[in-house]
Amino acid sequence: MMRLPEFSYLAPVSVGDAVKLMADHGPAAMLVAGGTDLYPNMKRRQFEPSVLVGLRGIRDMSGVRGSSKTGLTIGAGTSLTAVSSHPDVARHYSGLATAAGLVSSPQLRNMGTLGGNVCVDTRCNYYNQSYEWRKAVNFCMKKDGDICLVAPGSSRCWAVSSSDTAPMLWSLGAQVRLAGPKGERLIPISALYQDDGIQYLSKQPGEVLTDIVLPPCDGWRSAYLKLRRRGSFDFPVLGVAVALRMDGETVREAAITLGAVASQPRPAPEAAALLVGQRLTPELIAAVADAAFKPGKPLDNTDLTHPYRKKMIRVFVARALYSLAHGQPASTNRSNHLPHGQAASTNCPNHLTHGEAASTNCPNHLAHGQPAEGQVEDK
Ligand SMILES: Cc1cc2nc3c(=O)[nH]c(=O)nc-3n(C[C@H](O)[C@H](O)[C@H](O)COP(=O)(O)OP(=O)(O)OC[C@H]3O[C@@H](n4cnc5c(N)ncnc54)[C@H](O)[C@@H]3O)c2cc1C
Ligand code: SF4
Repeated sequence: MMRLPEFSYLAPVSVGDAVKLMADHGPAAMLVAGGTDLYPNMKRRQFEPSVLVGLRGIRDMSGVRGSSKTGLTIGAGTSLTAVSSHPDVARHYSGLATAAGLVSSPQLRNMGTLGGNVCVDTRCNYYNQSYEWRKAVNFCMKKDGDICLVAPGSSRCWAVSSSDTAPMLWSLGAQVRLAGPKGERLIPISALYQDDGIQYLSKQPGEVLTDIVLPPCDGWRSAYLKLRRRGSFDFPVLGVAVALRMDGETVREAAITLGAVASQPRPAPEAAALLVGQRLTPELIAAVADAAFKPGKPLDNTDLTHPYRKKMIRVFVARALYSLAHGQPASTNRSNHLPHGQAASTNCPNHLTHGEAASTNCPNHLAHGQPAEGQVEDK
């Protein structure tokens, strides 16, 4: 059994106190919210703080304020369960409700917070292991070692951004409020991340993420699809977050962001640009899915094979767009088939004749020679 190391737990009741405690203790301190990621990481000695500054006692950091007309402000300490079940989030920012509701398991969503999910550590098969396991392979540069075991010639870490909500918040144009010793600042969530598996956040370690700010809904629709091995519990090995602003049947604005394909959420602006001013026809969806496929470059350092994860980008982007075109939640696409018997795969001959999946030659069906349905979480 892995045990937690000794540490001191400090419990501020205001953001100002939390910021001061972080400044007082410097690199020895870390922030903890729900602790669902941080405590396991401490047990594996990936994190070794001697002081934890707990955020759970700060009431101002919890709850959802505002409206879909003015925009919503979600306290970083709001639980994922509360985010996913909030009526305004579920109705007007449904992709975010879906993403928050697909994190891990109900127990972890009750404890885990939106802020913790936004800041959650990057992941890698060579890093998310016990201390003894990591020691046996001589560690890697993300913790205790010198080289990258995935790409030994690389000078950087390629650990994977594995937050479900981050790509969706990116597509929704969210901003985050940070409080630090020099005061508060509001930045686009896209500016919070950087493409490095170790320094994946641009914020200073002592800065507290206090709020996530969503813009007015204003005709936006959104969808999030997640690929993982097990239908509950598992981190994403691909996330597809699509947001469209519709004017009748015409797309006025669009954003597509991929999760779990790089050390930060990866936008697909060329794919999104193809949608603007257009109606969501099957031909357009196929072209957009092809374009979104290009920026996703998963490496062989997480679950499922990376060629399969890459192939599923095209499939999931098409599914998300079909679900938005038909005004239906993506969860209705339980199998690889879309409403009206259409195929999500844009180039799979197995779907085009009888509206049913055959067996081979289709990216939807290829992983380990098994049908995708058992491996694809598409709630
Ligand atoms: C078995 C298991 C399965 C999981 N599956 C998923 C999954 O499917 N999808 C997913 O996205 N995550 C998953 N997680 C990770 C984790 O449960 C979630 O990301 C959760 O939302 C983290 O929130 P938390 O409040 O518990 O964060 P914590 O564990 O408390 O903190 C996580 C990180 O964020 C920092 N932090 C927390 N709050 C703040 C803040 N307000 N300001 C600045 N920094 C902050 C902490 O210092 C720490 O570095 C899983 C974890 C486990 C153990
Ligand atoms: S990508 Fe390389 S350096 Fe980063 S955690 Fe994995 S093995 Fe370590």
